[in-house]
Amino acid sequence: MPSETIKLTAKFKLKETPEGLDDLFSTYREIVNFLITHAFENNVTSFYRLKKETYKGLRREYSELPSHYIYTACQMAISIFKSFRKRKKKDKAKGRPVFKKEVIMLDDHLFKLDLENRTVKLSTSQGRFSLEFYPAKYHEKFKDWKIGQAWLVRTPKGVFLNVVFSKEVEVKEPDAFVGVDLNENNVTLALPNGEFVQITTHEREIRTGYFVKRRKIQRKIRAGKRRRELLEKYGQRERNRLNDLYHKLANKIVELAEKYGGLALEDLTEIRDSIRYSAEMNGRLHRWSFRKLQSIIEYKAKLKGVRVVFVNPAHTSSLCPVCGGKLSPNGHRVLKCLNCGFEADRDVVGSWNISLRALKMWGVSVPPESPTMKKGVGKVSRNDVYELHASYG
Ligand SMILES: [Zn+2]
Repeated sequence: MPSETIKLTAKFKLKETPEGLDDLFSTYREIVNFLITHAFENNVTSFYRLKKETYKGLRREYSELPSHYIYTACQMAISIFKSFRKRKKKDKAKGRPVFKKEVIMLDDHLFKLDLENRTVKLSTSQGRFSLEFYPAKYHEKFKDWKIGQAWLVRTPKGVFLNVVFSKEVEVKEPDAFVGVDLNENNVTLALPNGEFVQITTHEREIRTGYFVKRRKIQRKIRAGKRRRELLEKYGQRERNRLNDLYHKLANKIVELAEKYGGLALEDLTEIRDSIRYSAEMNGRLHRWSFRKLQSIIEYKAKLKGVRVVFVNPAHTSSLCPVCGGKLSPNGHRVLKCLNCGFEADRDVVGSWNISLRALKMWGVSVPPESPTMKKGVGKVSRNDVYELHASYG
């Protein structure tokens, strides 16, 4: 069975931050900035060259520091310098690159995570620190996952350890694909048995609610610390609620796709510059939401052994799934094919086309028996409608 790797990042908030950690943050920043300067002045974009040219000197200067900090600092410096160069080419960066953040990259020599005892052991120039972290419910699921890189990050809310976990999963050969059409307020699924399911999400209401709230705060409270804090608080709440919604939604979608073994989403990575795309995206999900929701669906599907494919999104909601002809509006959200007379809700059309494209991509010939013919009617409608609500929090 073919296997795939799933990678997820989990956050661990540290309970206390010993003084030695301050030194580590500032020393590390110093080293990264030294390396960035070296890369910038000598135009070094290779990790190996940067390490070769600087390692001995840094080792002498920071002899107490575990040597792997220098390796990870080289990795960070290279990626910062490269992104600086990219931005400079587009005229979006001036001067020279500087690293101001409080971030330390860690590899497996520098930290050891103990999920059961909720501690992380960190190698430092002052020996090993044993740091406790606050447990979160979702940490549980990473028990048997492989631990990869990590980042120690200081924010105004405290110090966090962000760890990348990975897991190999076996993905079956799909029998068929469930086509998933994501919209701002609903998700429509075309099931291979000819049924259509629509899940109402109320995402727009949530967004509008928080938008109004932000406006109110901006009107009533003077610009300053308190206003910033309030805006930040409600921004966080909005993200939490949407996150909660996306997880519930993804669970439902994967549940419906599980018995078919395949799930199809639109690939929206390639066409961001197209004008048609932005017109088509009107009233659909914001790009941030779209990516976020898609990535949650993708990893939850893989965890259940469901194959995920991404199909070309062009014209999924404007071409007839039966004959390929052009569809015309025919009443509220209804589209009709002038060529063959097929008529359906536009969400039905979208999800159906997505599932058909997945079959073609997979090399399966499209079954001649379409859902329309099965039901013996000219109009295809949704069979099930689910309501989904985010929890408040
Ligand atoms: Zn048609």
